[in-house]
Amino acid sequence: MRKAFKPKKQLSVINASLGIRSDMKEERIDMSDSSKKMAVGVDLGTSNLLIYVEGRGTVFNEPSIIAIDKATKKVVSVGIKAASLVGKTHEKVEVIRPLSGGVIADVEMIKELLVFTLDAIFLSKMDNIRKMLICIPSEITETEKQAICLLGHGMGIDNVNIDAEVKAAAIGNGLDIYEPRGQFVIDIGGGTTDFGVLSLGEVVLAKATKVAGEHFDRQIIEHVKFAHKLEIGDQTAERIKIALASIDGDLPVDEDGKELTFIAKGRDQVEGLPQQAVITASEIREVLLRCFETIKSTLIATLEATPPELSGDLVTNGIWVSGGGAKILGLKQYFENIAHVPVHISEHPLTAVINGTKKLLQFEGKHYFGESRVGMEARAQ
Ligand code: ADP
Ligand code: MG
Repeated sequence: MRKAFKPKKQLSVINASLGIRSDMKEERIDMSDSSKKMAVGVDLGTSNLLIYVEGRGTVFNEPSIIAIDKATKKVVSVGIKAASLVGKTHEKVEVIRPLSGGVIADVEMIKELLVFTLDAIFLSKMDNIRKMLICIPSEITETEKQAICLLGHGMGIDNVNIDAEVKAAAIGNGLDIYEPRGQFVIDIGGGTTDFGVLSLGEVVLAKATKVAGEHFDRQIIEHVKFAHKLEIGDQTAERIKIALASIDGDLPVDEDGKELTFIAKGRDQVEGLPQQAVITASEIREVLLRCFETIKSTLIATLEATPPELSGDLVTNGIWVSGGGAKILGLKQYFENIAHVPVHISEHPLTAVINGTKKLLQFEGKHYFGESRVGMEARAQ
């Protein structure tokens, strides 16, 4: 029987500092009870780090950013708190995105980020973790995979597994990937857009491009500089994208039916003084359409490389899109016009991967054919 969770002051203080959401508390069990060994799932995204703990649900969902005191090399903050420091630090503090650009840019910093976060969640009782599954982009090299595995072992966790983000995304979207049928997943994250074809529970084919969320932001910065003579920061560019992004169909409108706009604040390129400019949804559509040319060609290349039998399955199964970029309006129409198969946008694009790790942890090492058997097994546990 699971013990009722009695909140401890220390835990709530740490949770508050980490931004762990209060609505997740209900699922919590007592981490100080060493008899409870838990499985942990990690979505090590280039933009966001999500952590699932067995019996507790998704306990952490924040930017994969870390702030370090340069002199002492100590962690100042992670996640939302560290993200709030981007572009605003002095010389003593450095803010790092250790997975920036879709590569394992800085293994040491990834370790710091994971250790700091897990340490807070598990109140330093890391031996309460019986196994850990880390989901990463498919294109990561074997050396990088080994580095991540070692990193888990370095934390004292013996059972560490690495799996592909697209596989977790497919399961998280509710697909039964264990069937001998082709499934196609596109995950538009921060650093990479990943394409994966799956069958019999494994990734048959994977491709990726670095044209993804961060690239869109950089192109928005360039556009605003060129068209409005205004220099804006990364966070402003991301806000513009989230507010106005669309790729096909009608442009987003406000309550009065007028095209949506965003007032961007930054520095006038000519005068060097604080300034603002009105950015329209159609401008951002143009920027994104240019960016998506690469995504379009990688999609076509992946479809062309898909074995014919699996390709045939896509006519009925279609393509599933997840990752933060799946929230761009009109994506369904855009991809359907390219691929001529049904396109499904994930209902929860930002949590598809972490929801998939939960299921992968439950069914690790097993291959089931048919959703019903998976369901039966789950009920039997
Ligand atoms: P990763 O797995 O690489 O960490 P995520 O799947 O968490 O990435 O997605 C993060 C990316 O999605 C960021 O670049 C963010 O700006 C972008 N994003 C989030 N919401 C939206 C939105 N509504 N419209 C467009 N892009 C979005
Ligand atoms: Mg991701």
